[in-house]
Amino acid sequence: PVPELDHNLLSVFNEVVRRNPGETEFHQAVREVLESLGPVVAKHPEYADAEVIRRLCEPERQIIFRVPWTDDANRVQLNRGFRVEFNSSLGPYKGGLRFHPSVYLGIVKFLGFEQIFKNALTGLPIGGGKGGSDFDPKGKSDAEVMRFCQSFMTELYRHIGEHTDVPAGDIGVGGREIGYLFGQYKRITNRWEAGTLTGKGLTWGGSQVRTEATGYGAVFFVHEILKTSGDSFEGKRVVVSGSGNVAIYAIEKVHELGGTVVACSDSDGYIVDEKGLDLDLLKEIKNGHRGRVSEYADRKPGAAYTAGGSIWDVACDIAIPSATQNELDADAATRLVKNGCRIVAEGANMPTTPDAIRTLRAAGVAFAPGKAANAGGVATSALEMQQNASRDSWTFDYTEARLAEIMRSIHARCLETADEYGAPGDYVVGANISGFTQVADAMLSLGLI
Ligand code: GLU
Repeated sequence: PVPELDHNLLSVFNEVVRRNPGETEFHQAVREVLESLGPVVAKHPEYADAEVIRRLCEPERQIIFRVPWTDDANRVQLNRGFRVEFNSSLGPYKGGLRFHPSVYLGIVKFLGFEQIFKNALTGLPIGGGKGGSDFDPKGKSDAEVMRFCQSFMTELYRHIGEHTDVPAGDIGVGGREIGYLFGQYKRITNRWEAGTLTGKGLTWGGSQVRTEATGYGAVFFVHEILKTSGDSFEGKRVVVSGSGNVAIYAIEKVHELGGTVVACSDSDGYIVDEKGLDLDLLKEIKNGHRGRVSEYADRKPGAAYTAGGSIWDVACDIAIPSATQNELDADAATRLVKNGCRIVAEGANMPTTPDAIRTLRAAGVAFAPGKAANAGGVATSALEMQQNASRDSWTFDYTEARLAEIMRSIHARCLETADEYGAPGDYVVGANISGFTQVADAMLSLGLI
């Protein structure tokens, strides 16, 4: 059954639905957080008195802009750009840019809303924001992607800056796109202001481990979950959905820690390699020439490709959904449970539907929500900003140790908060309440903003 919200939280939720019609992903993300907040509101009437939750659900600023560009045939193309500057109580707005045809205001708001709590959980001074465009980089030439990025930044530049709003990558935005965006920012402003964007290249202001950070961080988080019961990755069978930046480096770290990832996917289908995925081959296909995972099965004897279908049919001990929102539904969750899965950690943002989360929790599966499990990416972005601000550059090992320590501390913080609010072992309650109280307390301190 869907949990009820108490009167005040329900009225906040209804207002969000009324103010943001049709933005179902945003409604879903808000409801998921509100469902954890009942005990907090009961304990802290000052939050309700100051309407903190109502204010938190309304972005501080929403920017929508036209992005015209020309394709290789010299035809004029048009996309829409977004930046939602959601909350800056803890620091400058921070969050990625997503380039994908599904992007509209509701997706950007859901991601921006999640980002507020995720960024708070890192313990670093970053507020929450998100942006993107309905531009589809798939099948576009390098020159087209560059012209699009230049046009996008020609509007966005006036809204961002190292003390204001610091974008980074997300789906469809990686090192190549950050390069084109940074180049255009630098050209327009005549400032080499490294701290304006994160995810930069290693020779021009980027941080070691930023590329790997989201995937590595999610696996560090699972490692902490395993440690609570004296267990480890040794001998564990793992399924990681997706085959983008998060998935690839999650697979790499699972293998380093002694587990075996047997399956991954893209939007067309999934591959299974019972001996464990050959990461060199996967990287060559995905990073080398932006290929499809079906090519892996063509080139690797013993591997099997399934077109369409559901990767969650593959039995595993640990699942790390790292593709996109709502990719793991209640049916899939039921099959995972039936096949013996014990841990689900979200590498992507909101990949698990509310029904699926309820199914997993009811079955006693440890469920780590994205705002905790995938916070390693943005945490390492904050480390990149730190290096930029001090004009420094750290080693890989030092940066990875910092990331591991941040993930350990997020995990500990979730469990402590869950205990404090009478829900031992519940990472959803722990992450939502801990992230929320940090932002809410800052908002109270800063007056009516
Ligand atoms: N897009 C990533 C996320 O969902 C990273 C954002 C960043 O590094 O600013 O957290």
